Amino acid sequence: MNDRANNIRELDRADKLRMTQQRRVILEELRKTHNHPTADALYEQVRKRLPRISLGTVYRNLEILTALGEIQTLELSGSQKRYDGIPQKHYHIRCIHCERLDDAPIAPLNTLEDELYGATVYTIMGHRLEFIGLCPECSRNEQARQMAEKTLSATGKG
Ligand SMILES: [Zn+2]
Ligand SMILES: [Zn+2]
Repeated sequence: MNDRANNIRELDRADKLRMTQQRRVILEELRKTHNHPTADALYEQVRKRLPRISLGTVYRNLEILTALGEIQTLELSGSQKRYDGIPQKHYHIRCIHCERLDDAPIAPLNTLEDELYGATVYTIMGHRLEFIGLCPECSRNEQARQMAEKTLSATGKG
């Protein structure tokens, strides 16, 4: 074994260790919040502990953590992906005005899939369900209420 190879191996090990540490901090910060942050919002939070981390690294680690089943990437009707530190299946409620996203306090409806069984040519592998509405703050805002009603009738959800 020559020195060069040795150096590369050392570098590799340091790199892997750094990646593992970064991933642990990202997971910790995500689990601290219950507001299902976007990658950008989480990046701002993680930077307070790891000032030199890049947004790309945060994205990549969020992808890995999702693949590992540690977190969930939520791709619902909003414009940006949101991240959830709770890996178990649960539903969400989204404020259609300010995009606040909370957990819906009901158990997953597993019978929904059974009901479809035999009624479709598809092999059903799961379902996604999102509740939409106005958060308490936006409910009190008359302008937000009017905009929400307009949005809902335009998209046929109302
Ligand atoms: Zn709101
Ligand atoms: Zn959630």
